[in-house]
Parts: sequence; C-alpha cells; structure tokens
Amino acid sequence: MNVLEASGLHTFYGKSHILHGVGLEVREGEIVTLLGRNGAGKTTTMRSLMGLTPAREGSIRVLGQDTTKWSPYRVAALGVGFVPEGRRVFANLSVDENLRVPLERPGPWTIARVYELFPRLQERRASKGRQLSGGEQEMLSIARALLLNPKLLMLDEPSQGLAPLIVKQVFEVIAQMRKQGMSVLLVEQNVRAAVEIADRAYVLENGAIAYEGPAAEFGRDEERVRALAGASA
Ligand code: ATP
Repeated sequence: MNVLEASGLHTFYGKSHILHGVGLEVREGEIVTLLGRNGAGKTTTMRSLMGLTPAREGSIRVLGQDTTKWSPYRVAALGVGFVPEGRRVFANLSVDENLRVPLERPGPWTIARVYELFPRLQERRASKGRQLSGGEQEMLSIARALLLNPKLLMLDEPSQGLAPLIVKQVFEVIAQMRKQGMSVLLVEQNVRAAVEIADRAYVLENGAIAYEGPAAEFGRDEERVRALAGASA
C-alpha cells in the first residue's frame, strides 16, 4: 500500500496560483526527496499535504484514507509527522519539556529512545530551546516529530544552515528511520546529499513536477540537476 498518494493538487495563496496539478506518491519504507529551485513550490506542497494550506483541487490519500479535506491535526493523528523549515522549537521550554509537548501516539519511539538516537539532546536536556545551536534545534524538532510515531515523516530542508558534520548526522538519522520501516518525504536544497539517501526523487519547477524517477539516476545527470534543482547542487 502507498503511504501517501496525491494527485492533481492546485494550491493558491490568495490569487497566486502556486501548485499546478502536483502529484506524488510515497511507498512504504521509502525515502522520497522533493527537489527544486527556491520558490518552486516545495514548502507549499508539504503544507498542502498536511492540510495547512489546503489544495483547492486535487486529492490526497494517506494510509488508504482520503484526507483531502482533513485538518492538519487529524492528518498528524493519522500518522504524518511534519518538521517545518526553520525548526520551531519552544524557545522558553527546556529540551525535556519540548519533548513532552507533542501529541503522542503509541509506537516504538519513546523519549528514552529519542535520547538514545540523539545523545547530544540528552546532554542538553535541561537547556532551553533558545540556548541550543541550529543543529541541536533541528535534532529536537526531528525528535519531537518522532514521538508522534509517524508512518510518514515530512522534513522541510533539515540541512539548512547546518555545518557539514551535523548535516551528516541528520542524514544518518533519516537512514535509520527507514530501517525502522518509516517512510520519509524530504525537501532539500542539498541535492547531492538528498539524492544519495533517497530512493526516488521528484523535482518541482514552477509549481509542477518536471522530473520523477530514481534519485540516483537524477543525481548522475549533472546538467539536469543544475537546470532543475539550482546552483546548490
Ligand atoms: P524555498 O526553497 O525558497 O523554501 P519552495 O520551493 O519551498 O522554496 P514555496 O515556499 O512553496 O517554495 O513558495 C512557492 C511560491 O509561493 C513562491 O513564489 C513564494 O513566493 C510563494 N509563497 C509562499 N508562501 C506564500 C504566502 N504565504 N503568500 C503568498 N505567496 C507565497
């Protein structure tokens, strides 16, 4: 069964028509990356899938249910985790308190297990969100999403602004999630790292899918990477 199936999504911000018939799917246990230049519509696609910026047309199915008109809360409760761009951790709560806020769903991920996955967070468990480095905040955002025990985790540019060593750690964690049977939809500017880890890639251009196929194959075509995915490749 597909974890996620979306087709024909048209999304607007007011009168601006941003997504023009976007369709994509994520299968069980797959890492799928969604690439594209700045402004191509990657964040908008994730927001539409989550129900945060509902699509005006099109359909979305998650785990076999039609979630097209669902609220973000209901989509999350069904098993979709979302780590938005810019790591929104609670600045005035400690790491430990941040981890106690998420909506919990039963499953393999517990606070003890996320501390095992991110030993650095355990070391900093009493520090406030605002005292953390960018990398620590990203880890905390991911840890919070994991506590929802999602079937599908959507990550919006997790490597943004992080030092290369931390990016490597974040990608190692994503690879571990797949081993646990979780599916991941990954929006990235870091095309090289994304195509290395992902099974399949979709590339958005002006709000429409311009490429769909094996991630490794996309990564090998340097000219196409430059044309569709921007200079950061
Ligand atoms: P980035 O890598 O810069 O985050 P992106 O591919 O995620 O880019 P989106 O953030 O989805 O792109 O933006 C797609 C388009 O929608 C852009 O032209 C952007 O200016 C526009 N847009 C985004 N958010 C809004 C908003 N709240 N109101 C109006 N237009 C918006």
